[in-house]
This record gives sequence, structure tokens and C-alpha cells, in this order.
Amino acid sequence: MKKILFFPSVIFFIIFFSCNRGPYASTNKTYKKQAKQFAKLIETAPLKDSLVTGSWVGTTNFNLRKPNFVIIHHTAQNSCEQTLKTFTTAKSQVSAHYVICKDGTIHHMLNDYLRAWQAGVSKWGNNTDINSSSIGIEIDNNGFEPFTDEQVSSLLTLLATLKKAYGIPTANFIGHEDIAPGRKVDPNVYFPWRKLADSGFGIWWSDTTNVTVPVDFNSLQALRIVGYDMKDSAAVIRTFKRKYEQVEDKSAILTDADKKILYTLYTSFR
Ligand SMILES: [Zn+2]
Repeated sequence: MKKILFFPSVIFFIIFFSCNRGPYASTNKTYKKQAKQFAKLIETAPLKDSLVTGSWVGTTNFNLRKPNFVIIHHTAQNSCEQTLKTFTTAKSQVSAHYVICKDGTIHHMLNDYLRAWQAGVSKWGNNTDINSSSIGIEIDNNGFEPFTDEQVSSLLTLLATLKKAYGIPTANFIGHEDIAPGRKVDPNVYFPWRKLADSGFGIWWSDTTNVTVPVDFNSLQALRIVGYDMKDSAAVIRTFKRKYEQVEDKSAILTDADKKILYTLYTSFR
């Protein structure tokens, strides 16, 4: 009889400890501890530095802030395992919400409502704190190889979920290079932006055969309207060609053909 009573607790013991083992058991514990600290901070009302004078009257009408952008990266590493390790090592100071492996496996690493460290110094329009308003997706790719069909398929499923959950605008699915021209090149020339745009994630250009660019068309202003930070216009032009023409062009000159593409993109923002 005693043995029978003992059994369920043994099973519980085995299940409990097998769930808490594995290579990421201790970093998962750290995650939980940090998330708890933030939960405590959210409960604090008012925040220590936010109320100068007056009284606190808590409103009854609120919810959580939502991500409004998705930033796509390639890992520039050689395996998914290497990236998981990087994102669970405190000294790296980098992270992302999702990592997509070559076989299409998606690793979710951070609650979508929390701020990952993926964008770094970046700007899109007048938004200078992209980390606070975006979801970061890292795709296992060293930057010089095609993405796998499995990765693209998983990515499209994930993007559809995020777009629906947070109401993210079509044009707000962008790459790391878009928000950090000159500093970043990811997801680089192999990334299938056209395929993404066909599914409703990001913008793309249409047939330019019959497009006539107005003589007073200001290319640099058009790039600014699309969202680019024009501090280094040569870097932006190189980024633009990498993304929309899938070429690495060091010249940083916009030809008539390039201007036609830019013009069609620009008109979708007017
Ligand atoms: Zn990146």
C-alpha cells in the first residue's frame, strides 16, 4: 500500500526534473526571474520617477502596448544552436523574439510584449527606438547562401500570426539593413522580399515598363518618405539596391531604371 502511494510522487518528481533539465534549463530559470521583476515593475503605480506632483488615480481602462514593426535579420552565424547560445549568453547583449532554423523549426525566445535587443542603433522615419516597437526575427543564414524553403514557409506562417495578432501594417515588415543602412546588410541579397510582399508582408514594386518618372522627381526625398534615415545617402542607395534589386552595387548611383523602381514604391506612400 505504501508503495502505491509513493508512486505518483515519484512520477511527479521525474516529470518535474526532466522538464527542468536540458541545455537551457538554467537560462530558462533566469528568463523567468527577469520576467517576474518586470511584472513587479508593471504593478507599481505610480512609477518612482513618473509622478511629479498631484495624486494617483488609477484608470480602469488600459491594456499592454503592442509591437508595430517586424524586423527581419539573418544571423550571420553557422548554426541555429550557435545563435541560441549567443542569445542565452549575458555578455553578448543581443537577442531576438524568434529564431528560425534551416529545417523550419521556430524557436520562440521572448514574449512578444517584451523588448528584445535586436535593432541596435537604428532609425525608421522618426522612430529611433525600434526595439521598443518591434518584433525581431532572426533566420539562421550566414548571409551568403539562399534561405531554405522550410525557413521561408515557417517565416510566412509566423508573420501571418503576428500581423493578425498585433495589427501590424503591411509596410512595417522591414529588414535590419533598412533601419541601419551602412551598419547592417541583413537579411542581404538572397532574402525573398518579393515573395513576402506577395503574401502581404512589406512593399514591393510592380512592372515598371510603362512608368514615366517626373522630371522633378527627388530620389533622396522619396527614399526618406519610404522611411530611410538619409544621414548617409550613399549607404541608403546601396541598401535599396540590395533589397529591391538583389544586387550588391558599390557605386551608390541611381540609374533611370532604379529611379523607376523607387518611384513606384514612393507612389504607394503618397
Ligand atoms: Zn540583424
